[in-house]
Amino acid sequence: MAPQLDGYFQKVDELSDKFIDRLRQAVAIPSVSAEAARRPDVVRMGQFLADELTKLGASVELRQLGKQEGTDLDLPPVVLARYGNDKSKRTILVYGHYDVQPAQKSDGWDTEPFELVIKEDGRMCGRGSTDDKGPVLGWLNAIEAHQVAGIDFPVNLLMCFEGMEEYGSDGLDDLVYAEGKGFFADADAVCISDNYWLGTEKPCLTYGLRGVNYYNIEVSGPGADLHSGVFGGTAQEPMTDLVRIMASLVDSEGRILIPGIAEQVAPVTPDEEGLYDGISFSMETLYESLGSKTTIFDDKKRTLMARWRFPSLSLHGIEGAFSGSGAKTVIPAKVIGKFSIRTVPNMEIEKTNEAVVRYVEEVFSKLGSKNTLKVYPQHCGRWWVASPNHWNFSAAAKATERVWGVKPDFTREGGSIPVTLTFEQATGKNVLLLPMGSSTDGAHSINEKLDKRNYIEGIKLLGAYLHYVAEEPMN
Ligand SMILES: [Zn+2]
Repeated sequence: MAPQLDGYFQKVDELSDKFIDRLRQAVAIPSVSAEAARRPDVVRMGQFLADELTKLGASVELRQLGKQEGTDLDLPPVVLARYGNDKSKRTILVYGHYDVQPAQKSDGWDTEPFELVIKEDGRMCGRGSTDDKGPVLGWLNAIEAHQVAGIDFPVNLLMCFEGMEEYGSDGLDDLVYAEGKGFFADADAVCISDNYWLGTEKPCLTYGLRGVNYYNIEVSGPGADLHSGVFGGTAQEPMTDLVRIMASLVDSEGRILIPGIAEQVAPVTPDEEGLYDGISFSMETLYESLGSKTTIFDDKKRTLMARWRFPSLSLHGIEGAFSGSGAKTVIPAKVIGKFSIRTVPNMEIEKTNEAVVRYVEEVFSKLGSKNTLKVYPQHCGRWWVASPNHWNFSAAAKATERVWGVKPDFTREGGSIPVTLTFEQATGKNVLLLPMGSSTDGAHSINEKLDKRNYIEGIKLLGAYLHYVAEEPMN
């Protein structure tokens, strides 16, 4: 039976001014994790959340994580909270972050970044509005609307809100693994609201993320940088070798030329292929965000698959190379090429690293150069994919249809949200990415916003999801 949600929805509408005010208070705290001078503000933001949760009757702990790596600076605490402890109910663990990206009006903002400004068209501008303060407060607002409406909260809610996400989630992994069988032990499933719709009109549920392996290729020869007028034609040049190696990694159609990569990629199943047909996405929107029409494919399906479920290789730069304007006649003595591979199921980190190293060494040896080569991974993070048929997803799909009147798209993302995999591994439970904001929110750029509609309907969605979760048969 579909849960009765009208009373809850109505209360969310009635309380919408209060909920927007709560977001206004949160945006006013410049909790920038990347700037040491702002650390007290990050801590203040954690305290704000803890106070709000305590007022709502949750039990709250501010968990200290020690010092930030390589500094004398205390990490901001992780807010761990529990609302409800009824053994007959399911328990859902939610994650979000209360820190934000840096922002200054002089970066090009139209309004003060740490003041929530509501435009006539409903855009609520302010740093952190959509990433990730709006979604985090969404959970608190859902609790409050239930209380005011006198509706029983459908699940036990465990909350984990961190303050270092925009700076590499320093310290979080250890805590999540340690609490997998501790504070998070009761969790039946996990929900993370920290990503975005694919477009602006249609909601989505996200079930996959690509991983990334990042590599350095180091070529060195001469003891110091040389002048080409003196040494050009006499020395074997590291840059010449490096450019030839880098040119051999990928072609202009995006095909990875390293043997042993494509072989690891899971074949597309008919089930999966079906998910792509209805997805609301147009090449026009892509051209707009690219700022050009220089796409590899000119159709939706192949483009999305190339972005989400196939690996890609990108060349990023060369350390030690001359890159300024003008005409410097230097021969760099040592250059380090940087490239990365976005990885997908069923690629393995070690197997991929071995294939890359073997191939690069082979290409280099064919050059017959006397220079020295080193090739090594700099950092590697695994891909993540969840089953979109799990009850966690079907509950979210029903809630989405109820709130937005449309079935959600099932999407993946080309980038990574490393904490997703951490929660999956630490709890052994299904993880769902349930976005609130839309693709034009500008999470890390100037004029970040969350549409009022996405915020208010998003609060309804988070609450509705918990009601459906409580009723879905476990499979
Ligand atoms: Zn975020």
